[in-house]
Amino acid sequence: MTVRTRVAPSPTGDPHVGTAYIALFNLCFARAHGGQFLLRIEDTDQVRSTPESEQAILDSLNWLGLNWDEGPDVGGDHGPYRQSERMEIYGEYARQLVDAGKAFICYRTAAELDELREARREAGNSNALKPSDLYLPEEEVEKRRAAGEPYVMRMMVPEEAGACVVDDMLRGSIELDWGMVDAQILLKSDGMPTYHLANVVDDHLMGITHVIRGEEWINSAPKHKLLYEYFGWDMPQLCHLPLLRNPDKSKLSKRKNPTSILYYQRMGYLPEALLNYLGRMGWSMPDESEKFTLQQMVENFDIQRVSLGGPIFDVEKLSWL
Ligand code: GLU
Repeated sequence: MTVRTRVAPSPTGDPHVGTAYIALFNLCFARAHGGQFLLRIEDTDQVRSTPESEQAILDSLNWLGLNWDEGPDVGGDHGPYRQSERMEIYGEYARQLVDAGKAFICYRTAAELDELREARREAGNSNALKPSDLYLPEEEVEKRRAAGEPYVMRMMVPEEAGACVVDDMLRGSIELDWGMVDAQILLKSDGMPTYHLANVVDDHLMGITHVIRGEEWINSAPKHKLLYEYFGWDMPQLCHLPLLRNPDKSKLSKRKNPTSILYYQRMGYLPEALLNYLGRMGWSMPDESEKFTLQQMVENFDIQRVSLGGPIFDVEKLSWL
Protein backbone atom coordinates (compact mmCIF):
# COMPACT_ATOMS: atom_id res chain seq x y z
CA MET A 1 0.00 0.00 0.00
CA THR A 2 1.32 3.44 -0.90
CA VAL A 3 0.70 5.93 1.85
CA ARG A 4 -1.18 8.98 0.58
CA THR A 5 -2.11 11.96 2.70
CA ARG A 6 -3.55 15.36 1.96
CA VAL A 7 -4.19 18.76 3.42
CA ALA A 8 -7.57 20.16 2.44
CA PRO A 9 -7.88 23.86 3.28
CA SER A 10 -10.90 25.97 2.45
CA PRO A 11 -9.81 29.22 0.76
CA THR A 12 -11.95 31.54 2.84
CA GLY A 13 -9.46 33.89 4.45
CA ASP A 14 -5.79 34.48 5.11
CA PRO A 15 -3.63 31.32 5.01
CA HIS A 16 -3.69 30.06 8.59
CA VAL A 17 -0.73 28.73 10.57
CA GLY A 18 -3.03 25.82 11.49
CA THR A 19 -3.11 24.85 7.81
CA ALA A 20 0.70 24.83 7.69
CA TYR A 21 0.81 22.74 10.87
CA ILE A 22 -1.59 20.14 9.44
CA ALA A 23 0.20 20.20 6.07
CA LEU A 24 3.56 19.67 7.78
CA PHE A 25 2.42 16.58 9.66
CA ASN A 26 0.73 15.12 6.57
CA LEU A 27 3.80 15.73 4.46
CA CYS A 28 6.15 14.19 7.05
CA PHE A 29 3.94 11.14 7.50
CA ALA A 30 3.67 10.52 3.75
CA ARG A 31 7.36 11.07 3.02
CA ALA A 32 8.50 9.01 6.00
CA HIS A 33 6.57 6.11 4.46
CA GLY A 34 7.75 6.75 0.91
CA GLY A 35 4.29 7.97 -0.02
CA GLN A 36 2.67 11.08 -1.48
CA PHE A 37 1.25 14.24 -0.01
CA LEU A 38 -1.55 16.06 -1.86
CA LEU A 39 -3.11 19.49 -1.65
CA ARG A 40 -6.85 19.73 -2.18
CA ILE A 41 -8.58 23.08 -2.14
CA GLU A 42 -12.03 22.65 -0.62
CA ASP A 43 -13.80 25.51 -2.32
CA THR A 44 -17.37 24.27 -2.50
CA ASP A 45 -18.58 27.22 -0.48
CA GLN A 46 -18.80 29.59 -3.39
CA VAL A 47 -19.80 32.57 -1.31
CA ARG A 48 -16.87 32.47 1.09
CA SER A 49 -14.13 31.05 -1.18
CA THR A 50 -11.97 33.52 -3.08
CA PRO A 51 -9.21 33.08 -5.69
CA GLU A 52 -7.01 35.49 -3.66
CA SER A 53 -7.26 33.29 -0.62
CA GLU A 54 -6.46 30.20 -2.67
CA GLN A 55 -3.42 31.90 -4.18
CA ALA A 56 -2.23 32.96 -0.75
CA ILE A 57 -2.50 29.34 0.49
CA LEU A 58 -0.44 28.10 -2.47
CA ASP A 59 2.16 30.85 -2.01
CA SER A 60 2.42 30.22 1.73
CA LEU A 61 2.88 26.47 1.37
CA ASN A 62 5.50 27.09 -1.32
CA TRP A 63 7.23 29.67 0.85
CA LEU A 64 7.41 27.12 3.65
CA GLY A 65 8.68 24.42 1.29
CA LEU A 66 5.63 22.24 1.95
CA ASN A 67 5.43 21.02 -1.61
CA TRP A 68 2.66 18.70 -2.69
CA ASP A 69 3.55 15.77 -4.87
CA GLU A 70 0.77 15.57 -7.39
CA GLY A 71 -2.09 17.47 -8.99
CA PRO A 72 -3.42 18.64 -12.34
CA ASP A 73 -0.71 19.82 -14.71
CA VAL A 74 -0.25 23.59 -14.80
CA GLY A 75 2.50 24.38 -17.27
CA GLY A 76 4.84 21.56 -16.28
CA ASP A 77 4.19 21.94 -12.58
CA HIS A 78 1.34 20.46 -10.59
CA GLY A 79 -1.45 22.61 -9.31
CA PRO A 80 -3.73 21.66 -6.45
CA TYR A 81 -6.88 19.58 -6.81
CA ARG A 82 -9.90 21.85 -6.61
CA GLN A 83 -13.32 20.70 -5.55
CA SER A 84 -15.02 23.41 -7.60
CA GLU A 85 -13.72 21.60 -10.69
CA ARG A 86 -15.23 18.30 -9.60
CA MET A 87 -18.86 19.23 -9.04
CA GLU A 88 -20.49 16.64 -11.32
CA ILE A 89 -18.68 13.87 -9.46
CA TYR A 90 -20.33 14.75 -6.15
CA GLY A 91 -23.79 15.03 -7.73
CA GLU A 92 -23.37 11.57 -9.25
CA TYR A 93 -22.34 9.98 -5.97
CA ALA A 94 -25.18 11.68 -4.09
CA ARG A 95 -27.67 10.29 -6.61
CA GLN A 96 -26.17 6.82 -6.18
CA LEU A 97 -26.91 7.05 -2.47
CA VAL A 98 -30.50 8.16 -3.09
CA ASP A 99 -31.02 5.21 -5.46
CA ALA A 100 -29.63 2.85 -2.85
CA GLY A 101 -31.95 4.26 -0.15
CA LYS A 102 -28.97 5.66 1.80
CA ALA A 103 -29.91 9.28 1.20
CA PHE A 104 -33.21 11.02 0.62
CA ILE A 105 -34.65 14.16 -0.87
CA CYS A 106 -35.93 16.58 1.72
CA TYR A 107 -38.35 19.43 1.04
CA ARG A 108 -38.58 20.67 4.61
CA THR A 109 -38.44 24.45 4.98
CA ALA A 110 -36.14 26.30 7.39
CA ALA A 111 -39.12 27.20 9.61
CA GLU A 112 -40.21 23.56 9.76
CA LEU A 113 -36.68 22.49 10.70
CA ASP A 114 -36.66 24.96 13.58
CA GLU A 115 -39.97 23.60 14.83
CA LEU A 116 -38.82 20.01 14.53
CA ARG A 117 -35.65 20.73 16.50
CA GLU A 118 -37.65 22.50 19.16
CA ALA A 119 -40.02 19.55 19.41
CA ARG A 120 -37.09 17.17 19.85
CA ARG A 121 -35.64 19.34 22.59
CA GLU A 122 -38.95 19.53 24.39
CA ALA A 123 -39.22 15.75 24.27
CA GLY A 124 -35.80 15.58 25.91
CA ASN A 125 -34.04 14.25 22.81
CA SER A 126 -30.89 15.55 21.17
CA ASN A 127 -31.75 18.16 18.58
CA ALA A 128 -30.13 16.10 15.82
CA LEU A 129 -32.78 15.69 13.15
CA LYS A 130 -33.44 12.12 12.12
CA PRO A 131 -34.87 10.86 8.81
CA SER A 132 -38.17 9.99 10.52
CA ASP A 133 -38.57 13.62 11.70
CA LEU A 134 -38.09 14.88 8.18
CA TYR A 135 -40.45 12.48 6.48
CA LEU A 136 -43.29 14.14 4.54
CA PRO A 137 -46.28 12.27 3.14
CA GLU A 138 -45.96 11.46 -0.56
CA GLU A 139 -48.77 13.89 -1.57
CA GLU A 140 -47.03 16.72 0.24
CA VAL A 141 -43.73 15.92 -1.48
CA GLU A 142 -45.58 15.87 -4.81
CA LYS A 143 -47.15 19.24 -4.06
CA ARG A 144 -43.83 20.85 -3.19
CA ARG A 145 -42.12 19.26 -6.17
CA ALA A 146 -44.85 20.52 -8.51
CA ALA A 147 -44.53 24.01 -7.00
CA GLY A 148 -40.77 23.89 -7.76
CA GLU A 149 -39.85 24.33 -4.10
CA PRO A 150 -36.20 23.96 -3.15
CA TYR A 151 -34.97 20.66 -1.75
CA VAL A 152 -31.76 19.21 -0.40
CA MET A 153 -30.34 15.70 -0.33
CA ARG A 154 -29.72 14.30 3.15
CA MET A 155 -28.08 11.15 4.36
CA MET A 156 -29.82 8.39 6.25
CA VAL A 157 -28.55 8.08 9.80
CA PRO A 158 -29.41 5.70 12.65
CA GLU A 159 -32.59 6.73 14.46
CA GLU A 160 -31.55 5.36 17.82
CA ALA A 161 -28.78 6.39 20.18
CA GLY A 162 -25.97 3.86 20.51
CA ALA A 163 -22.20 3.72 20.52
CA CYS A 164 -20.37 4.64 17.35
CA VAL A 165 -16.72 3.73 17.68
CA VAL A 166 -14.17 5.50 15.55
CA ASP A 167 -10.53 4.43 15.50
CA ASP A 168 -7.87 7.08 15.69
CA MET A 169 -4.16 6.48 15.18
CA LEU A 170 -3.25 8.52 18.25
CA ARG A 171 -6.31 8.34 20.43
CA GLY A 172 -7.27 4.68 19.96
CA SER A 173 -11.01 3.93 19.92
CA ILE A 174 -13.12 7.03 20.34
CA GLU A 175 -16.66 6.38 21.41
CA LEU A 176 -19.27 8.73 20.00
CA ASP A 177 -23.04 8.49 20.02
CA TRP A 178 -25.23 7.85 16.99
CA GLY A 179 -27.95 9.80 18.79
CA MET A 180 -26.05 13.04 18.13
CA VAL A 181 -25.72 12.45 14.40
CA ASP A 182 -27.92 14.64 12.25
CA ALA A 183 -29.44 13.61 8.91
CA GLN A 184 -26.69 15.62 7.30
CA ILE A 185 -27.27 17.56 4.09
CA LEU A 186 -25.09 16.09 1.33
CA LEU A 187 -26.22 18.26 -1.56
CA LYS A 188 -27.53 21.77 -0.90
CA SER A 189 -30.53 23.27 -2.68
CA ASP A 190 -28.21 24.88 -5.24
CA GLY A 191 -26.75 21.46 -6.04
CA MET A 192 -23.46 22.16 -4.23
CA PRO A 193 -22.08 19.37 -2.07
CA THR A 194 -21.42 19.90 1.60
CA TYR A 195 -17.99 19.35 3.09
CA HIS A 196 -18.90 15.82 4.26
CA LEU A 197 -19.87 14.43 0.87
CA ALA A 198 -17.12 16.09 -1.16
CA ASN A 199 -14.44 15.26 1.41
CA VAL A 200 -15.31 11.54 1.63
CA VAL A 201 -15.74 11.10 -2.13
CA ASP A 202 -12.45 12.84 -2.82
CA ASP A 203 -10.49 11.03 -0.14
CA HIS A 204 -11.66 7.78 -1.68
CA LEU A 205 -11.11 8.72 -5.33
CA MET A 206 -7.71 10.24 -4.56
CA GLY A 207 -6.60 7.08 -2.77
CA ILE A 208 -5.99 8.79 0.55
CA THR A 209 -4.88 6.16 3.06
CA HIS A 210 -4.43 8.36 6.14
CA VAL A 211 -6.49 11.41 7.06
CA ILE A 212 -4.49 13.58 9.44
CA ARG A 213 -6.50 16.62 10.45
CA GLY A 214 -7.43 18.84 13.37
CA GLU A 215 -9.40 17.50 16.31
CA GLU A 216 -12.32 19.79 15.51
CA TRP A 217 -13.33 17.16 12.93
CA ILE A 218 -13.73 14.27 15.39
CA ASN A 219 -17.47 14.80 15.61
CA SER A 220 -17.75 14.48 11.83
CA ALA A 221 -16.18 11.03 11.88
CA PRO A 222 -19.45 9.08 12.44
CA LYS A 223 -20.99 10.68 9.34
CA HIS A 224 -17.90 9.86 7.36
CA LYS A 225 -17.87 6.32 8.67
CA LEU A 226 -21.47 5.88 7.49
CA LEU A 227 -20.72 7.33 4.08
CA TYR A 228 -17.81 4.91 3.58
CA GLU A 229 -20.11 2.05 4.58
CA TYR A 230 -22.89 3.21 2.25
CA PHE A 231 -20.51 3.42 -0.68
CA GLY A 232 -18.84 0.11 0.25
CA TRP A 233 -15.40 1.75 0.48
CA ASP A 234 -12.61 1.19 2.98
CA MET A 235 -12.25 4.10 5.35
CA PRO A 236 -8.80 5.71 5.54
CA GLN A 237 -7.09 5.64 8.91
CA LEU A 238 -7.91 8.72 10.92
CA CYS A 239 -5.61 10.80 13.05
CA HIS A 240 -6.89 13.90 14.80
CA LEU A 241 -4.14 16.27 15.86
CA PRO A 242 -4.63 18.57 18.84
CA LEU A 243 -5.52 22.15 17.96
CA LEU A 244 -2.97 24.92 18.33
CA ARG A 245 -3.69 27.06 21.37
CA ASN A 246 -2.87 30.50 22.72
CA PRO A 247 -0.63 30.63 25.81
CA ASP A 248 -3.81 30.83 27.96
CA LYS A 249 -4.93 27.50 26.40
CA SER A 250 -7.80 29.06 24.46
CA LYS A 251 -8.15 28.18 20.78
CA LEU A 252 -5.52 29.99 18.71
CA SER A 253 -6.93 33.39 17.83
CA LYS A 254 -5.87 36.46 15.95
CA ARG A 255 -6.32 38.63 19.01
CA LYS A 256 -3.53 36.82 20.87
CA ASN A 257 -1.25 35.62 18.07
CA PRO A 258 -0.97 36.54 14.42
CA THR A 259 -2.55 33.51 12.73
CA SER A 260 -1.89 34.44 9.11
CA ILE A 261 1.21 32.95 7.50
CA LEU A 262 1.44 36.18 5.48
CA TYR A 263 2.28 38.03 8.68
CA TYR A 264 5.38 35.92 9.32
CA GLN A 265 6.41 36.17 5.69
CA ARG A 266 6.06 39.96 5.69
CA MET A 267 7.81 40.39 9.01
CA GLY A 268 10.85 38.60 7.65
CA TYR A 269 10.73 35.42 9.71
CA LEU A 270 12.59 32.60 8.05
CA PRO A 271 10.27 29.91 6.71
CA GLU A 272 12.56 27.29 8.29
CA ALA A 273 12.06 28.92 11.70
CA LEU A 274 8.27 28.87 11.42
CA LEU A 275 8.30 25.24 10.21
CA ASN A 276 10.65 24.21 13.00
CA TYR A 277 8.37 25.92 15.52
CA LEU A 278 5.26 24.22 14.09
CA GLY A 279 7.08 20.89 14.06
CA ARG A 280 7.91 21.27 17.74
CA MET A 281 4.23 21.86 18.46
CA GLY A 282 3.42 18.52 19.99
CA TRP A 283 6.23 16.57 18.31
CA SER A 284 9.82 15.97 19.28
CA MET A 285 12.93 14.50 17.69
CA PRO A 286 14.00 11.15 19.14
CA ASP A 287 17.16 12.86 20.51
CA GLU A 288 15.03 15.79 21.82
CA SER A 289 17.01 18.31 19.74
CA GLU A 290 15.00 21.48 19.31
CA LYS A 291 16.39 22.69 16.03
CA PHE A 292 15.63 20.54 13.04
CA THR A 293 15.00 21.00 9.36
CA LEU A 294 12.05 19.67 7.40
CA GLN A 295 14.29 16.95 5.98
CA GLN A 296 15.41 15.90 9.46
CA MET A 297 11.81 15.85 10.61
CA VAL A 298 10.84 13.61 7.68
CA GLU A 299 13.75 11.26 8.36
CA ASN A 300 12.87 10.89 12.03
CA PHE A 301 9.13 11.11 11.77
CA ASP A 302 6.99 8.79 13.82
CA ILE A 303 3.39 9.86 14.32
CA GLN A 304 3.34 8.07 17.66
CA ARG A 305 5.68 10.78 18.96
CA VAL A 306 2.91 13.36 18.62
CA SER A 307 1.75 14.43 22.04
CA LEU A 308 -1.93 15.05 22.61
CA GLY A 309 -1.41 17.84 25.16
CA GLY A 310 -2.64 21.12 23.63
CA PRO A 311 0.28 22.62 21.67
CA ILE A 312 0.88 26.24 22.66
CA PHE A 313 1.62 28.64 19.86
CA ASP A 314 3.21 31.78 21.20
CA VAL A 315 4.51 34.36 18.76
CA GLU A 316 6.81 35.69 21.50
CA LYS A 317 8.64 32.38 21.60
CA LEU A 318 9.02 32.04 17.87
CA SER A 319 12.58 32.93 17.00
CA TRP A 320 13.42 34.63 13.75
CA LEU A 321 16.22 32.34 12.74
N1 GLU B 1 -11.82 21.73 4.45
C1 GLU B 1 -11.59 21.24 5.78
C2 GLU B 1 -10.81 22.33 6.52
O1 GLU B 1 -10.93 23.45 6.14
C3 GLU B 1 -10.83 19.94 5.73
C4 GLU B 1 -10.97 19.08 6.93
C5 GLU B 1 -10.39 17.71 6.70
O2 GLU B 1 -9.17 17.61 6.63
O3 GLU B 1 -11.15 16.75 6.52
O4 GLU B 1 -10.12 22.15 7.49
